[in-house]
Parts: sequence; structure tokens; C-alpha cells
Amino acid sequence: MTATSLCWMNHEIKPTDECSISVLDHGLLYGDGIFEGLRFYHRHVLHLEQHLQRLQNSAHALQLTLPFSLAEIGAAIETLINQYGEPSGYLRLVVTRGKGNLGLNPRHCPQANLFIIVDQLSLASSQAQLGGLKLVTSSIRRTTGTGLDARVKSLNYLHSVLARIEANAADADEAILLNERGYIAEGTAENLFIEIDGALQTPPCSDGALGGITRLTVIRLARQLGIDVQERSLTPYDVYNADACFLTGSGAGLLPVAELDGRVLASPNGELFKKLKQAFEQYIEAQCQ
Ligand code: PMP
Repeated sequence: MTATSLCWMNHEIKPTDECSISVLDHGLLYGDGIFEGLRFYHRHVLHLEQHLQRLQNSAHALQLTLPFSLAEIGAAIETLINQYGEPSGYLRLVVTRGKGNLGLNPRHCPQANLFIIVDQLSLASSQAQLGGLKLVTSSIRRTTGTGLDARVKSLNYLHSVLARIEANAADADEAILLNERGYIAEGTAENLFIEIDGALQTPPCSDGALGGITRLTVIRLARQLGIDVQERSLTPYDVYNADACFLTGSGAGLLPVAELDGRVLASPNGELFKKLKQAFEQYIEAQCQ
């Protein structure tokens, strides 16, 4: 049996299903808020500083004042992990604009809310993790120059939710989103890499991708292994004709891709992917002891 999911809110920790926030919270009424998804191993959070920094950057972009300092949030996470019954798991850190009135003006929300949930999360079946995911290209476009910057990890995930609904309808495991110019931005909650002739390519964040923390780590580990990595605009054609493709994310880890839009890739779970996945696992062990 897995441990009970717990939630930290205002220095109190309770079972998650006993926690609630007001129906007047603008996180709920308007998607006005931000979040982070983190993993911990051996009770040690991977990339804690990077996640807290991205949270702060998202908050700053939305003129949202965090209700606690980053040090206090770090301490809350530590307390929560120590009370949780498993040494490894997933954390969801959410900051909402807080309680206001029915108008959307954030001026009427004096106090942001912050809560942290700890639980287990598996984003792909073990079959997909081994054999590779079936992907489809979503008709939903990620906006780049117009609208919300994709680097803000906001509570507005409808682009991703709609893309996922399309993936479900196509009986696929996951969808990728293009930007308005037809270039690949990312998956619904992962960044994307392709392998061509032993080198890696990934879309630049300016094509509408979140600045993924796992993405950066994979780029660094690949370069340490002597693998060339280029940030370059990619289209579905590039994926169809790549040797391999994989997705990265804190929740997802490194997931191999078997096909996109019915085009089967040459080598899901090939040598380069296996090497990188192993390097990533060793990196986690070294960081989280
Ligand atoms: N893109 C999106 C839209 C995401 O939600 C996530 C998950 N945070 C990622 C990419 C991967 O980012 P990270 O490696 O920082 O988890």
C-alpha cells in the first residue's frame, strides 16, 4: 500500500483530501496562479533551487507576491517530505492569487495562497516506458510572441489539456504542440529531443517551450558524454525522419517515443537514449543521497 498523500498549507500538514481553498480563490476562478512539479529521491528534492527560482520568476512575471520566502518554502517541503511515508515521490507546489471577489481584478486579492502536495505519480505505463510512447501532433497551437509567455508555469494549462484530449481520442499516449508558425514547442508537460546521426536537437524555448529543468540537465549530461546538442526549430517532419525521439520532464523523467502521427521511429530506446537515461539516473543518485 502506498503512503497517504499529504498537503502542507499555512504551516499545517493534513491528508490531502482534507485540505481545501475558497471557491473565491482566483486560482480557481481565473487560473490566476503558478505551480511547480518536483521529484524527490531518498527524501532529497532534485533541483530544488532551480524549481524555486522558476517559481519566483513566474510569480514576478505575473506580479504575484509569494506569501513565503523561498527559504520558508524550502523548509516547508523538507517538513512535508519527512512526514510522508515514502522516501521518494512527487511534489506539487501551487501558488494562487488568493481569495478575491467575482471580478478578475487581482487588486481585490490581498493574500496569495500556497500549498504543497506530496504523492506518488507515474506519467507513463511501464509498457510505454519500455517500448516508447505513441504521440500525435495536436491541432492546438502554443502561442509564442502573443499572449502568455510559455516560460511562465501558470495554472492555465488548457492548451495542454486540450492537446491531451486529442491524444486520448487518437488512442495515443501523449501529444505534441506546435507554435503558430508550425514549429514544435513541446509535449503537454515535457520537452522534446530528437536524435539524428548520434547528435541531439531540441526546440529553443523561443518556439514556445517551457524552460524545462530536466531539459537543461539532459543537455548538460549529453555534452559531458561528448554528444553534440543543438537548439533548433523542429517540425513534425524532423521527428518523422529522426533516428529517435524522447521527452523530458520532472514528472516524466526521460521517456522514449515510438511513433508520431503513425510514423514509426527507427530506434526507440536505442543506444544513445539508454546511455543518457543511465547518466540521468546516476546524476539523480549523486544529487539526492
Ligand atoms: N513543458 C511543460 C508544459 C511542462 O509542464 C513541463 C513540466 N514542468 C515541462 C515542459 C518539463 O519541465 P521540467 O523538466 O522543468 O519539469
